[in-house]
Amino acid sequence: MQRTEQDGVVISCDFCQTDWDGQSAMIEGHHGSVICLECLKKALEESVSGEGKYQCTLCLRINIPASLPRWHFPHRPEKLVCQECLHQAAKAMSKAEHVDWTWKR
Ligand SMILES: [Zn+2]
Ligand SMILES: [Zn+2]
Repeated sequence: MQRTEQDGVVISCDFCQTDWDGQSAMIEGHHGSVICLECLKKALEESVSGEGKYQCTLCLRINIPASLPRWHFPHRPEKLVCQECLHQAAKAMSKAEHVDWTWKR
């Protein structure tokens, strides 16, 4: 997500809320939503099917069926990300030259 401060626009991960340092790897979703590499790694391991339909913070789809695994940062259950976004982000991160990480399915 983005917010404007005195020095300009600050970008931070929508999930862990860490501010971007201008260097670390992050993937953008729709409307300025962002997931950082650390969250992405965790999410790929920990995403699970839940109960009820949900909305994804990155692709903004609503009514995502419960069967599609989701993830949220600990203690921030209101921000969910769907597994499709996670897989897309993981592919993009793996291809990015400046990112020293490759997704192993
Ligand atoms: Zn994060
Ligand atoms: Zn999504």
